[in-house]
Amino acid sequence: MDIAKRKREFKDRVRYWADKLEVKVVWLGVRPMNNKWASCSTSGHLNFNEKLLGLDPELWDYVIVHELLHFSVPNHGRLWKSLMRVHLGDYEAMARRLEEVAEASRYQA
Ligand SMILES: [Zn+2]
Repeated sequence: MDIAKRKREFKDRVRYWADKLEVKVVWLGVRPMNNKWASCSTSGHLNFNEKLLGLDPELWDYVIVHELLHFSVPNHGRLWKSLMRVHLGDYEAMARRLEEVAEASRYQA
């Protein structure tokens, strides 16, 4: 796997969704992380776990949209869920796959 290329593709995907969801990303990082798939701050800083680079891009979309929605919805309540469904369809299946693929109860977005 060409990590640099995957990283470019991943960041392009983040920018694509950020445009679509009208989120202004000030900082975008992909780096080793413990316990989490991603983290965000309201100041526009986004970091993703580099382990994502080895996964199916459909699962990238789940983690990316999940995180970008937190810029406007800070919890996983009804609004967040309905927006996830609008943008991704069956996002719950993606979440389950993500857990399976990566022994992931340890990684949360
Ligand atoms: Zn979350």
